[in-house]
Amino acid sequence: MSITENVAGAVSDLPAMDHVGRVDRLRDAMGDVGLDGLVVTNLTNVRYLCGFTGSAGVLLVTGNHVHFVTDGRYTEQSRSEVGSSGVPIEIEISASEPDRAIAARAKADGVSRLGLEENSITWADHTRWVKDLLPGTELLGSNSIVETLRLVKEPAEAARIRAACAVADEALARTRHLLNEGPTEIEFAMELDSTMKRLGAADVSFETIVASGPNGAKPHHHPGGRVIADGDLVVIDFGALVDGYHSDMTRTMWIGDVGKARERMFEIVLESQLAGMEAVIAGVEASAVDSMCRQVIDDAGWGDAFVHGTGHGVGLDIHEEPRVSSRSAAILEPGHVVTVEPGVYIPELGGVRIEDTVLVTDTGCDRLTRTPKTPQPG
Ligand code: ZN
Ligand code: ZN
Repeated sequence: MSITENVAGAVSDLPAMDHVGRVDRLRDAMGDVGLDGLVVTNLTNVRYLCGFTGSAGVLLVTGNHVHFVTDGRYTEQSRSEVGSSGVPIEIEISASEPDRAIAARAKADGVSRLGLEENSITWADHTRWVKDLLPGTELLGSNSIVETLRLVKEPAEAARIRAACAVADEALARTRHLLNEGPTEIEFAMELDSTMKRLGAADVSFETIVASGPNGAKPHHHPGGRVIADGDLVVIDFGALVDGYHSDMTRTMWIGDVGKARERMFEIVLESQLAGMEAVIAGVEASAVDSMCRQVIDDAGWGDAFVHGTGHGVGLDIHEEPRVSSRSAAILEPGHVVTVEPGVYIPELGGVRIEDTVLVTDTGCDRLTRTPKTPQPG
């Protein structure tokens, strides 16, 4: 079987997801903190719990019911998506005030301690809930209850992230040789993006970064009209989206002769990235992975040029918990998906970053982005 067929199979033969189990686990977690209802307004969390992918909808989970309110644009879509999640959900279409409809359902279900998603509702929304929608009910912050469930990926979620990584790998394998032909950053980014879509990605994970020469010293450079030329380091940071799940990978290539200083930058960052990957295992502190990467770069004298954290969780959001940084309190667990992405950025030389997306296991990590780290475009 060719690589392309493997990628096509990975994208199309996706195992079913366990929405029912997620709602059960949410109810357990709600019980642990004394909530008998939770209003889910973060649309990524809505998708996680009931499969709805539209841009407007509110979910209410109580002890014995799940209610979903959306507007008339999503009548058909909500029936098919929410219906196929397997979760018994009562759908209501409300054009004007979905939160009032949800409040009425909470009241009818006898909810007395209702959680609101503190990271997604505004101060104005909160005031409306307290003063107008449910004045007699105790309202509490959700304390990232759904985000916490999302930390550990089910096998079906890991399969989607793995497929997204496979698409990104294959797209770079097909396009990297073009770097030798002097494209502009934006031309190369467009080629990479369209190749991912042809291979089955629903979209890109985020705006592809192609940062060449001095632009590489800006970690989040937007690709522009600069022509990629001999002597450049080129930082390429990109990902594919498959059924809502992201991938995230960075490779740094060098074009022609980049000189000893840039070669050394590359070698140090590669050594740092491999040290970080080596440190990933269930039970380790995320901050320890960060310090393994940082140590190598510090020792080379470039500590001040590693200007960001080592990595982040990847899933339905491109940046999610757990963070892999010096300030992170997270302990890595089997089923977490995180990136390891040290970098060094020096205005006179450019930038080097190398990043993989990995699945944490009991014995180490499963590297989901498989592209070799050789710097020559080939
Ligand atoms: Zn990235
Ligand atoms: Zn990243």
